Amino acid sequence: MSPICLNAIAVSKTYDSGLIFKKYKKVLDGASLEIEEGKTFGLVGPSGSGKTTLGRIMAGLDRPSGGDVLFHGKKIAEMDRTGYSHFRRRVQVVFQDPEGSLNPRKRIETAFDEVLSLVKVPKKVREERTLAIMDAVGLSEDLLCRYPNQLSGGQNQRVVIGRVLLLDPEVIILDEPTSALDISVQAQILNLLKDLQKQRGIGYLLSAQAGEGGKFMAQDVGVMKEGRLVFR
Ligand code: ADP
Ligand code: MG
Repeated sequence: MSPICLNAIAVSKTYDSGLIFKKYKKVLDGASLEIEEGKTFGLVGPSGSGKTTLGRIMAGLDRPSGGDVLFHGKKIAEMDRTGYSHFRRRVQVVFQDPEGSLNPRKRIETAFDEVLSLVKVPKKVREERTLAIMDAVGLSEDLLCRYPNQLSGGQNQRVVIGRVLLLDPEVIILDEPTSALDISVQAQILNLLKDLQKQRGIGYLLSAQAGEGGKFMAQDVGVMKEGRLVFR
């Protein structure tokens, strides 16, 4: 067993709706799972079972109503500013719809450049870093001057993955990363993710609906049903 880098302990989430008569809906109910360094936890479950909610909470994009998320054994809720921003940088998310993650008005090279400037990479080495990342995700450099609508869904998802890689993540939450893509492209993206994991030792939380290949590369699998992990 490798060391655990990110885990959820008894995470619950309740949403409320309604202005006067509040309705409460328990979306996660005591979900626990561990992502080991460089390994994949496959989270399988039907639509609406709580996969996205759990992934967002584990990435710090949402707060749990109960339970804890631990990054290298430390509760993220108790981290100081520096610790928390380190966690937010090192745990990244790739959502199912790549077009929703990319700005339609920005060329691919700009999408990369923004991240590089965010992580304070000096201007003169940005081009070199961009070309290296394009190569790493299997895109040819002539696509750099295009806009997202001039790329295929699979190419856009490669761009999204490349952008996340520039942040040097330890964990990537892959929220149904291929379910918006053509069947023929799905395996290519999963293979790319597998290669990147091998090269860089990244831990994944890979969610999928049943039969979508979620078990494809997972060392550990959990089945989500109505906010609970019913099978481990
Ligand atoms: P999955 O990713 O497995 O399809 P989700 O985590 O997206 O499941 O959703 C789980 C449940 O939580 C669904 O019933 C969904 O409608 C509900 N839900 C998700 N986000 C919100 C929200 N912001 N407010 C209210 N309900 C939500
Ligand atoms: Mg979802």
